[in-house]
Amino acid sequence: MAKYIFITGGVMSGIGKGVATASIGRILKSKGFKVNAIKIDPYINVDAGTMNPLEHGEIFVTDDGMECDQDVGNYERFLDQDLTNDNYLTTGRVYQRVIQKERNLEYQGKCVEVVPHIPNEVISQIKKLERKTKADFILIEIGGTVGEYQNMLFLEAARILKLQHPNDVVFILVSYLPVPKMIGEMKTKPTQYAVRSLNMAGIQPDIIIARAPTPLDAIRKKKISIFCNVTEKDVISAPDIKSIYEIPINFEKDNLGNQILKKLKMRAKKSNLNDWRKLVKKIKFPKREVKIAIAGKYFKTGDFTLMDSYISVIEAIKHASYYFSLEPRIFWLDTEEYEKNPKKIKELKNFNGVIIPGGFGSRGVEGKIKVIEFCRKQKIPFLGLCLGMQLSVVEFARNVCGLRKANSTEFLPNCQYPVIDIISEQKKLLKKKKYGGTMRLGTYPCKIKPKTLSFKAYARSFVSERHRHRYELNNAFRKVLESKGMVMVGINPEKDLVEIIELKTHPFFIATQFHPEYKSRPLKPHPLFREFIKKSVSRVVSSE
Ligand code: GLN
Repeated sequence: MAKYIFITGGVMSGIGKGVATASIGRILKSKGFKVNAIKIDPYINVDAGTMNPLEHGEIFVTDDGMECDQDVGNYERFLDQDLTNDNYLTTGRVYQRVIQKERNLEYQGKCVEVVPHIPNEVISQIKKLERKTKADFILIEIGGTVGEYQNMLFLEAARILKLQHPNDVVFILVSYLPVPKMIGEMKTKPTQYAVRSLNMAGIQPDIIIARAPTPLDAIRKKKISIFCNVTEKDVISAPDIKSIYEIPINFEKDNLGNQILKKLKMRAKKSNLNDWRKLVKKIKFPKREVKIAIAGKYFKTGDFTLMDSYISVIEAIKHASYYFSLEPRIFWLDTEEYEKNPKKIKELKNFNGVIIPGGFGSRGVEGKIKVIEFCRKQKIPFLGLCLGMQLSVVEFARNVCGLRKANSTEFLPNCQYPVIDIISEQKKLLKKKKYGGTMRLGTYPCKIKPKTLSFKAYARSFVSERHRHRYELNNAFRKVLESKGMVMVGINPEKDLVEIIELKTHPFFIATQFHPEYKSRPLKPHPLFREFIKKSVSRVVSSE
């Protein structure tokens, strides 16, 4: 039977609960255990696919096409494991299953109630994952913050599971200790309240991970220990650090892995984080920097810049840069600005490489096309991802093939040259307003043309990559595009869809219909990102 580790968050969101969960997973894996993880999100959405990235951050996609929270991406990256639809739950998913079971008479005439049926369904999903993966440890991260209304039923599930398996469950609270500027002292009170809230839900945390701007001192540790009812050894200091990849190593400084094993009456085991240590060394002592611009649109919320929407792209850039001991400096370009002020585009010359990531809707699209034109003409290393590929095709059709009115039917349904068009099955779905979970999702095979940059990068002729889109390159225009120097490098053999394009006369111009960023791992950078960074750093740009 598996052991269950519940991870909850105290005080506020955004303190790195997902990365903490992933790091705990990495530590246990490094001790030789089989680990798996579930993220439970409190919202009603059945999956994350219908949410605006500005609201919720990136929508991550697994091999089997589940659209989920970015934390599942963190789990994959830290655990170096592919996860599935079973690794994600939302309130919507749980209710949907319970209602379906009720309709199918599976409760055999019982009155179906929020308690116990909803928590029981959560438990049965956790056990399903355990059965399927035969993991030694299942980590369960409960989204939101303790004390809020929305995740009560998940805490209830955690409490009931502990009641059923008293020796197999550990509760970890990831909490925040602020240092208010006007006081200049680290405060433990909000964490004390968070623990009280957990206590009210019938849960006593076994371990508290204390996130704070700086390491915890002895006084604070003692205070948390006494007021929150945990031993000092079970208060783990988690200060802000430069790289998230240092977190497993930091946790191990406080012996977190063996503290967890001790709670479960298991023997202490040495962890082996050597690869991880090597990675952190490269991150801390880079040889030089590489400046990469991301031309997107999902990063402004009011006065703040939110990078969460492109987290997998950012991490993929980082992994590839670390591989070459480079420090990536990432710049955000709001392409709408190039629409208003076309001269500004010259600033692109200052970057080693440019990426256009995925996106939906017409806002900022014309500015992105200008970015692509500039990168093509100036021979700046370029990587286009999904929408980035579609717009590369539009730009090439307009400016190289002379099809001035080329567009994607996503932006102009009746355009004269629909070089990007909706996938035929998608048309029917949209007519019926079937938006949820219906894109072309998950992995599909792709055959790579020999003697191309992509072939060199992958060193293979067949790859399988993850998708999330409704539009595709319109095969009716393939010939004209090819005749002017666009190379159709990757093809999905089942449906003859173009998955990768390159430009003959450019030193590095690769654009993919799929999202390679989803499969990049800290110790295994994605081949296309790796080659992109390699080429980018060789381009000479001014240092500021
Ligand atoms: N909007 C485009 C499509 O649906 C691209 C999607 C994306 O970039 N993920 O095909």
